[in-house]
Order: sequence, then C-alpha cells, then structure tokens
Amino acid sequence: MKTKRLLCSAAAIILTLSGCGNKALTKEESLTVYAMDTVMELKACGDEDAAKAALRAAEREILRLDALFRRDSEDSDIYKINHGTAQASADTAEIVRRAAEISASTDGAFDVTIAPVMDLWGFYGGNFRVPTDSEIVAALERVGYKNISVGGEAVTLSGGAQLDLGGIAKGFASEKIMKIFVENGISSALVSLGGNVRALGTKPNGEKWRIAVQNPDGGAYIGYLDISDLAVITSGGYQRCFERDGVVYHHIIDPATGYPADSGVKSVTVIGSDGTLADGLSTALFVMGLDKGTEYWRTHDGFDVIFVTNENEIYVTEGAADIFESDSHYEILDKT
Ligand code: AMP
Ligand code: MG
Repeated sequence: MKTKRLLCSAAAIILTLSGCGNKALTKEESLTVYAMDTVMELKACGDEDAAKAALRAAEREILRLDALFRRDSEDSDIYKINHGTAQASADTAEIVRRAAEISASTDGAFDVTIAPVMDLWGFYGGNFRVPTDSEIVAALERVGYKNISVGGEAVTLSGGAQLDLGGIAKGFASEKIMKIFVENGISSALVSLGGNVRALGTKPNGEKWRIAVQNPDGGAYIGYLDISDLAVITSGGYQRCFERDGVVYHHIIDPATGYPADSGVKSVTVIGSDGTLADGLSTALFVMGLDKGTEYWRTHDGFDVIFVTNENEIYVTEGAADIFESDSHYEILDKT
C-alpha cells in the first residue's frame, strides 16, 4: 500500500515581513534554531551585543526545554515521567500543571495524555498507519488528564497515562524566551517557533509587528495581524498529516474518538498574551470546531480566535477583528 506524504508542513510565518525598522543604533539580530521537531526563527532588536547575547541565551533555553520535554530520549523528564519516575524539573512540573489545567478547562478537548493514541497513528517517527478500531479503544482507555497529579516538582501518572507536550510546548517555550530577552535588556523582539509566533513589545520605532495568518490551503495569506506583546498560535490539520487510500489523516486527535478531529475547521488561530494558554487552546478549539469553540471563547477570557472552516469561511472574534486586516470576507463573532 502506498503512503503519500502530503504537503503537510507547519506555517512558515515569514518574519521578514516584519523587520525591526530603521532607527539609529538599533540593530536587528536573528537566529534560526532547529528544535522540538521544527524550525524556529528568532529576531531581537536593540544594542548589537545585547541582541546577540539574548539570542544565544534563548537558543540555550530552547535546547534545554527540548531536552526536558521530548518523549523519545531516555534522559528527558517526560520519558522518565511516562515510565514511572515522578521527580521532574521545575519547568516540567510547571508545563504539566498548565497542560492539566487547560485539559480540565476544555473538558478534555485538549488532553495532554493523548500520547498512546499519537503512538498508534505513527505521528512519532513518521511511521504512519491507520490503527484498527480495537487498537484505538484500547489506547483511549489510557487517555485521561484526570490521571495526572502534580505535587511540587513531582509528576505522577496513573491508569497507563503518558504525556505528550506537542500541543503546548512551543507556546510555553515562547514565554520562556520572552523572559530571557527581557533579562538580557531586549524590549523589542519577534519569534516564530514553527509558526507559533510571540512578539515582545513593538518594533523599536513604535510600530506593531505585522504577522501573516496562513491560508490553510497554502498560497496567499488570509490576512495580517498587527500585534505587540502577544502570541499568535495556529493549529491546522495541514501542518502534519498523511494520506492513505485517499483519506487524509492529520495530527490533531479528538480525545473523544481517538481519530483526527473532524470538527469542520481547517485551522484555528489563537491570539493572547499567554503563549502557553494560546497554544493549548489552539489545539483544543481545533478539536471543538466553530460552534463549541465560539461558546468556549464566550465563556472564557484572555484570548481571541480566528477560525477558518472547511468551506473557507473566516470567523474572527471581536478582539481579534480590531487588529486583523484582510482582503477576504470575514464574519465577526461577538461575546453575546
Ligand atoms: P498543535 O499544533 O499545537 O495543535 O499541537 C498538535 C500536537 O499536539 C500533536 O502533534 C500532538 O503531539 C498533540 N496533540 C494532538 N491532539 C491533541 C489533543 N487533543 N490534546 C492535546 N495534545 C494533542
Ligand atoms: Mg497547540
């Protein structure tokens, strides 16, 4: 049987769209890092030495977090937790705590214990396959965020649960990078961690950073967001997928079924000041789809959303509409 690799790749958000701008004594330094299975682009503006030092420190931080969070290395915290060792680093305990909170808040649409199902589909290592129904039922028995307990820096799993931080790690890392930039005297920066964008401040000249929102079908962007101090994080079925017998299977799993979420959306972009939350919610709202996702947004604060449906309709929540510019038609969602 032939398995075709589609053009399934994370959004190449083009940071060059948004440079530091021209201002005397302001340098723009940039760095590309490969970590967390993706290409990361970091840009820092300011004094040249400070910006270079900040980027080097950010790279070290990304590699440190990647080493803690990856599932496939016996030395990682997540591997150890998944295999019964409770003691973890402070950062691991913190991200697992946040992930468990988001899992609970979204009633398990985001479920950080999705690992056994992800393994079945072969999304680790790229050995894609379509599991049998009975395999999925057995794996789902081990999925449940309620089986996580975090006490201090000890993370304990029960019921055969295993963690997969793939839906939240990049958002978490982007927040850590912002802290490091600030500690290094940088107040103007933009990073894209495999399309997960986080801006620090504005450009040095006071203008906002302009971020392109990718068209899930490829080609032209659906529009632009002008942001400062915000994360912009997109989940899309197109980002990682494979085709088997004419059916496309993607990497965002509905924990209620064990199959790729089929909620009627092609992509969900979450905008908010907390990158960790925005990342978890981008995955969760993709699983929920437009109606449930809008309801969730109406009853929770701290973020805005752009939905692109399977019919290519664009829905933008009112806070996002204020900073969204597009030539396409879009509907604005209000809070009531
Ligand atoms: P994202 O691109 O942020 O939506 O994250 C997708 C990644 O999160 C997948 O590659 C998996 O590692 C993981 N994942 C898939 N489905 C879920 C889910 N329902 N809840 C939590 N994590 C998930
Ligand atoms: Mg996510």
